[in-house]
Amino acid sequence: MAEIVIRNLRKTFGDFTAVQSSSFRIEDGEFFMLLGPSGCGKTTTLRMIAGLELPSAGEVYIDGEEVGQKPASQRDIAFVFQMFALYPHMNVRRNIAYPLVSQGMPRAQVRAKVAEVAGILGIEDILDRPVGGLSGGDRQRVALGRAIVRNPKCFLMDEPLGALDAEFREHMADELRALHDRMGATTVYVTHDQLEAMQMGDKIVVMNHGVVEQFGTPQDIYDKPATMFVADFIGSPPMNFLRFHGSVATGDAHVRLHHQVLAVPALREPFDGGMVYGVRPEHVRLSDAAGYRGEIIAAEYLGTTQIVTLKTHNGEVKARIPSDQRARMGETVGLDFNGATVTLFDSQSGRAIR
Ligand code: ATP
Repeated sequence: MAEIVIRNLRKTFGDFTAVQSSSFRIEDGEFFMLLGPSGCGKTTTLRMIAGLELPSAGEVYIDGEEVGQKPASQRDIAFVFQMFALYPHMNVRRNIAYPLVSQGMPRAQVRAKVAEVAGILGIEDILDRPVGGLSGGDRQRVALGRAIVRNPKCFLMDEPLGALDAEFREHMADELRALHDRMGATTVYVTHDQLEAMQMGDKIVVMNHGVVEQFGTPQDIYDKPATMFVADFIGSPPMNFLRFHGSVATGDAHVRLHHQVLAVPALREPFDGGMVYGVRPEHVRLSDAAGYRGEIIAAEYLGTTQIVTLKTHNGEVKARIPSDQRARMGETVGLDFNGATVTLFDSQSGRAIR
């Protein structure tokens, strides 16, 4: 097992900066997600951890040892790619055994290791089958088997489920997570899918344009986004942003939006200028008693809940409300926000004001 520490890690390709001074810590045994949109630098970060790409600056520590400039072969890790490169002319058993055989492990020991791994993955019955005719899921399990069999300190996975259809993907995500929980090896997993990251990860790093926007547990990231980018990227529909101008003092637990006093968590620092009142759709209620008003302009039925869109003085707001609550198009209603869950942002920098 391994603890991985990334310190001021940076990667440039010519004059393009793919990763800008990133720092975070991956605890021993954690299932850790690198999350962000396409091109944000997740794969480059993972490849630097693996040793497939050398950092332009900064350090990578695995169990306290600085390995940033060491080649992949000198790091005790297994890399699982999206495209599973199995050896097509070998059967399942030989595919899984390959890393051990090439290390020169004695045959009896190899047989025992392969049997153990097959047991963990539940593929004992296909060990003698050629890999050519296997289903996508079984191919995936064989590829994982080949990664597990070496007993590496940690697994690095780059969108391993990316090629699968939605239903099967969810099933494999559960299997991967369960496998991790059984084996306990540190796993670093790249994905652009926020739901996958939230469901599977112990911790998440959210990246954008090569910059670490936030690093924390799924709950931290959802409930206390550090930036508007994170608040917008995580959650579906994303957080509502109501733009306004004003000033707040240290300790204030309210702001003024269009002549209404709205609650916010008490602030540790004062602020004056353009702000954004960020509230998640499930924390908006329609209530006749509320003074802040909006006009219903759309409603989307989702089974037990519905997403109602309202036009307000500070922009559009989406509310997730029970589907049996009446929401009539064109009607103006009061909006009640759960102030304890609100995040205020500086509209210029996009950073949360706490
Ligand atoms: P995706 O999910 O699309 O792979 P990503 O977040 O993993 O995105 P990276 O693959 O890390 O992003 O790439 C980050 C940026 O660095 C991209 O703009 C990419 O074009 C660029 N890049 C990556 N590798 C190289 C390279 N070898 N030479 C030049 N530019 C590169």
